[in-house]
Amino acid sequence: MKNEMKMEFTSQPENEGFARVTVGAFVSVLDPTVDELADIKTAVSEAVTNAIIHGYDQKEGKVWITCVIEDQNVEICVIDSGKGIEDVEKAREPLYTTKPDLERSGMGFTFMEAFMDEVWVASAVNQGTRVTMKKRIGRT
Ligand code: ATP
Ligand code: MG
Repeated sequence: MKNEMKMEFTSQPENEGFARVTVGAFVSVLDPTVDELADIKTAVSEAVTNAIIHGYDQKEGKVWITCVIEDQNVEICVIDSGKGIEDVEKAREPLYTTKPDLERSGMGFTFMEAFMDEVWVASAVNQGTRVTMKKRIGRT
């Protein structure tokens, strides 16, 4: 049977910590290693930070996370209804950032790809962005 949770929160930067801890607690039933858990939490942090900082650009909005566990697989979606991404392929390139002034390094998507098995990004300008990430826990 699938194990599923959904959460919704407003776009305050401090909710990034809430989101990473909550998803981390939910996936703990899979008994991940310390490294696997850290990878998932970091990927969630990057996606949520992007939703808050880029998607909503300091404005108020909602961020949604859905998380599904099936067997040893976890699938996490981070969704915003913010400004969207014009060119997703470009946005995913290492070091690409539209906010160099805020000391962003443009490595968020690169980290998500490195720490998760698969990452999909669906986005539409002025409609929002959905980042879907999958990881299999316990590879041996
Ligand atoms: P870093 O994550 O290293 O602090 P960054 O956020 O700019 O820097 P990425 O996370 O790789 O780098 O994102 C690349 C670019 O994609 C961002 O600069 C932004 O233009 C765009 N982007 C990412 N997520 C979203 C989103 N949810 N809504 C709108 N634009 C986004
Ligand atoms: Mg980022």
